[in-house]
Amino acid sequence: MKGFMRPGLEEIDPGVPAGRRPPIRLDCNESPFDLPPSLKCLAAQKICDLSLNRYPDAAALAVREQIARNLGVKPGEIVLGNGLDEVILMIVLAFGAGRRVIIPVPGFSAYKTSAILAGATVVEVPLAPWLDLDVQKVLEEAAREPGLVFICSPHNPTGRSVRPEIVERLLRETGSLVVVDEAYWEFAGTSCLSMLQEYDRLIVLRTFSKAFSLAGVRLGYAVLNEDAASWLTRAKMPYNVSSLSLAVAGVVLDDPVHVRETVSRVVAERERVFSALLASPHVVPLPSCANFILFTTSCPAGDVYERLRERGIAVRSFPRAPFLSNYLRVSIGNPSDDDAFLDALNRLLVNEEQRAMMRGGFHA
Ligand code: PMP
Repeated sequence: MKGFMRPGLEEIDPGVPAGRRPPIRLDCNESPFDLPPSLKCLAAQKICDLSLNRYPDAAALAVREQIARNLGVKPGEIVLGNGLDEVILMIVLAFGAGRRVIIPVPGFSAYKTSAILAGATVVEVPLAPWLDLDVQKVLEEAAREPGLVFICSPHNPTGRSVRPEIVERLLRETGSLVVVDEAYWEFAGTSCLSMLQEYDRLIVLRTFSKAFSLAGVRLGYAVLNEDAASWLTRAKMPYNVSSLSLAVAGVVLDDPVHVRETVSRVVAERERVFSALLASPHVVPLPSCANFILFTTSCPAGDVYERLRERGIAVRSFPRAPFLSNYLRVSIGNPSDDDAFLDALNRLLVNEEQRAMMRGGFHA
């Protein structure tokens, strides 16, 4: 097989973790709250009414109309994918092949994976040392020649929002296409959606995996002008979103209360977890606008990661990412999972400190 592999394939992380996921799952930024039983019953009823022998509606018109109504855009300005992951790949296949794809790093891995798969040139722009976007560098790279720029706001994994003015500068001062990934926007409140009217080189991305509690359903979408949407649709396989996913999304879109309550519970819990981390003398957390928190501790991150895993708690580590080798990212869970995490983290850091003091030093 070796000679057949396309260049760059070896750089792609297979993304399938070895072994079972521990019971306390704070590593994937999912919603900790499943759909309420009333919505599940409605979704089950809708699924019972489907003709599963038929292909799904390739145009996914009903769900696009519901989303369009909620956002105040036209259905023709929405393209759905089997998760936002697929939409990202479609965008790079449609608009980025053979071009430069500018990616702030460390960042969400699907941008680079998609760029490699699409045969684009990956241009990684490291975050500034204080973990903000290096605006000047991104502007310079985007201005070099028309390419694609991925901006993630709030940024995964730092949790920091990118101000819409920065996106506007990228659109005004460069000829590149700007893709703003707003997977976590509900937890932050700032969005670039309203800028779509003015800029036809802007694409805004959204997902049902976070605030909508539907990570298992796999549904995400791009919002972009109608002409660009018709081109993007050409990079989509006809039946990419299943009837089951469309049915469940339709039910949840009809009930704004579920999302509103999920977001306010997650945001309140995020502030509680942040305060608890801040209160620990061994932990430095970054303020976050998303449903996760990036933090560093007085112990090597790899050791903390392993010890938490031994206690059944999964968080995310970044052993190979620039700047982040000593950071961990914890997703906001339900209060009891978060308490288990905080308790385990504090205990292991205190134990480490005692051990280090006996050895005569503590890695600060
Ligand atoms: N964008 C970002 C920034 C993400 O963090 C994720 C998932 N973690 C995605 C996109 C992919 O979302 P989906 O589950 O819809 O594929």
